[in-house]
Amino acid sequence: MNTNQNILIVGAGLCGSLLALHMGQLGYNVSVYEMRPDLRKADISAGRSINLAFSDRGIKAMKLVGIQDKVEPLCIPMNGRMLHDKDSNTFLSNYSGRDYEYINSISRGGLNALLLDEAEALDNVSLYFNKKCERVDFEKTTAHFYDYDTKTKFIEDTDVIIGTDGAGSALRKSYYLEKKFLFSLSQDYLTHGYKELSILPTETGDYKTYKNALHIWPRGDFMLIALPNLDGSFTVTLFLSHSEGEYNFNNLTTPEIVTEFFTKEFPDALELMPNLIEDFFENPTSALGTVKCSPWHYKGNTLLMGDAAHAIVPFYGQGMNASFEDVVEFDKVLAEHEGDWEAVFSAYEKTRKKDTDAIADLAIDNFHEMKDHVANPIFQEKRKLEMALEKEFPNDYSSKYSLVTFNEHMDYRDAMLRGRAQDKAILNMLTDGELDINGNLKLILNKVKQETEAILEDDRIAGLK
Ligand SMILES: Cc1cc2nc3c(=O)[nH]c(=O)nc-3n(C[C@H](O)[C@H](O)[C@H](O)COP(=O)(O)OP(=O)(O)OC[C@H]3O[C@@H](n4cnc5c(N)ncnc54)[C@H](O)[C@@H]3O)c2cc1C
Repeated sequence: MNTNQNILIVGAGLCGSLLALHMGQLGYNVSVYEMRPDLRKADISAGRSINLAFSDRGIKAMKLVGIQDKVEPLCIPMNGRMLHDKDSNTFLSNYSGRDYEYINSISRGGLNALLLDEAEALDNVSLYFNKKCERVDFEKTTAHFYDYDTKTKFIEDTDVIIGTDGAGSALRKSYYLEKKFLFSLSQDYLTHGYKELSILPTETGDYKTYKNALHIWPRGDFMLIALPNLDGSFTVTLFLSHSEGEYNFNNLTTPEIVTEFFTKEFPDALELMPNLIEDFFENPTSALGTVKCSPWHYKGNTLLMGDAAHAIVPFYGQGMNASFEDVVEFDKVLAEHEGDWEAVFSAYEKTRKKDTDAIADLAIDNFHEMKDHVANPIFQEKRKLEMALEKEFPNDYSSKYSLVTFNEHMDYRDAMLRGRAQDKAILNMLTDGELDINGNLKLILNKVKQETEAILEDDRIAGLK
């Protein structure tokens, strides 16, 4: 590959800044254009969600660019889900039976700033802020920008354009609007939206509730979650229907009704949130959706990556991790098809799309699991059993959650197929009374494995694999 080539990246979010760093390390001339001000200088929120769950697929990408040691201090380990019921009882459910498997809470702004610093330190990477991409001419490989500083428009001509400009991608819009090739696009919104709130630190800067967990208040049709921040606060997110149910975003319009809702549903959270009303009415309510599209590239000229190619709902904590893993997968095909961008882009999409489709579907599954199933007794029994299997047979058993989150060398689609088959096997056997969870674990493991393989074989016959 001629690394003297010019790569233009649209969007300096999580994926774009990592990609710029990596392409810079490989020796390409990289220019990154971001529509927002530089988040390291301006006092702006880094975008959607203040903190995120960061796990092994994301860590794998940090290792690719050699900054895992610098990312570690930004991380707060979360060993499990702390479930809060309506009577304020709590129950910690670990993410894995293996002690060394946990996820992390990380600041979006902190991580993005680190990636920008690392990319900018390279002579061959240039970052430009306040430049909004309006459209891309993918036949001429030119990007059209509006400069918020000078209030003028300009055009950049380059060798390759990669759109990492998030769920509302301008490059994707150009593919769709220009109608020059068969471009498939689906955008599915959830009936639920989200609003960010906060639990502030105590006066002495301590955490008001248990630090090392992802807190969940599951309530069937809606839920509240909270992730810790380094400053002692928690970012709290309410996921709720826009218009359905007794309480919804459309009817939570006064401080009285919001307080009534929290008193009834989340009394222990309310106690920690004297700032609730202020947060509730100051912070926006945002939509949640899944974007799938294809193709991701136009010939060897342009490519979509990260949320621009595959935005997903946040319930598996994998959107950023998947976008980071995109860069790792891209790196593999780049090495294989040196010198031919069209071959690189096609091979990348061929290997990657099945996996991002899989995590998109898994994220929807987890929406129902988190708000509802985690509080369901048969689900809790299954979870207990899986924890015991992982603890007793650390090399022989991984739950679906572990396959997706901690097995970064298994692709998402394989993790989905195996994970779903295991879930089906265990739930069926528990429901039919065929598993005694206090019985011999080795026998249980064998039964689960046998039944899982039988289901996977049925899937294979049905053409699912
Ligand atoms: C509420 C919520 C919670 C989430 N929690 C998690 C989690 O716990 N774990 C996880 O892994 N993922 C999570 N995600 C998903 C994660 O935020 C995304 O997958 C991730 O940000 C994708 O990175 P990206 O760089 O592709 O897109 P983005 O981070 O959206 O970055 C896109 C960048 O492009 C810029 N841009 C956009 N349009 C233009 C334009 N026209 N011109 C120039 N620049 C432009 C934007 O300003 C932005 O900087 C969550 C998402 C939401 C909404």
